[in-house]
Amino acid sequence: MFRAWRRRRILARHSIPDALWDATVAATPAVARLDAGAQRRLRDLALLFLHEKAIEPADGMTVDDVMGVRIALLACRPILELGLDSYAAFASVIVYPDAFLVRDRERVDEDGVVHRGDDVLTGEAWEQGPVLLSWPDVEASGRGDGYDVVAHEFAHKLDMLDGEANGLPPLHGNMRVAEWEAAFDAAYDDLVRSLGRGEEPWIDPYAAEDPAEFFAVMSELFFDVPGELQAGYPDVYRQLAAFYRQDPAGPPAGPT
Ligand SMILES: [Zn+2]
Repeated sequence: MFRAWRRRRILARHSIPDALWDATVAATPAVARLDAGAQRRLRDLALLFLHEKAIEPADGMTVDDVMGVRIALLACRPILELGLDSYAAFASVIVYPDAFLVRDRERVDEDGVVHRGDDVLTGEAWEQGPVLLSWPDVEASGRGDGYDVVAHEFAHKLDMLDGEANGLPPLHGNMRVAEWEAAFDAAYDDLVRSLGRGEEPWIDPYAAEDPAEFFAVMSELFFDVPGELQAGYPDVYRQLAAFYRQDPAGPPAGPT
């Protein structure tokens, strides 16, 4: 109750300046396509996001309002119909001036083998902590070419709502786990087979890393190039439309 009251008060007293919001939307085709009502709700969500989450600069960079609004807009686009409480489990976003190095990372592969090494990352979502983003990659996100590191990392956060990221976020009551798994397994296998044949896949081959990465990459496509995902993996598109409660590609074109 208190949270709802506080949010109403923030919305009544603050706003994102028109010129800043309009410029950010204009640079993000996936958002510019939304109808006026949805854009208004997204603007409110982004304002609340900026009040409730700390956007923290790392490695000596400064984060200005333009950057904050761009991050908030891209972060809130996936939860437009889910609400900001979907992000209640974390409090901050850390922004790096460039791709960042995570030293001495330990990773266990499917065979139980532990790999150690340094990773260069454009973004990362910590299971019990912040989202990390490289600013140049945020800038490149949501431009209509299928890349969106913000949708990617926040998809991991949604996936983690029921524990570790595994490509199966908590589904709504009208969805079926079996249908989700059938759609995602078939598409994942298709990608792995295509890579095995040495083909150049139509999506980022990083999606083949594991089911969690696959879900995150599919979410990038869903918001940034929904028509391509709908054409390429229609069953995955349908599952994501049910999960995000959005239909960014609109109904498939038919005879009029
Ligand atoms: Zn990822």
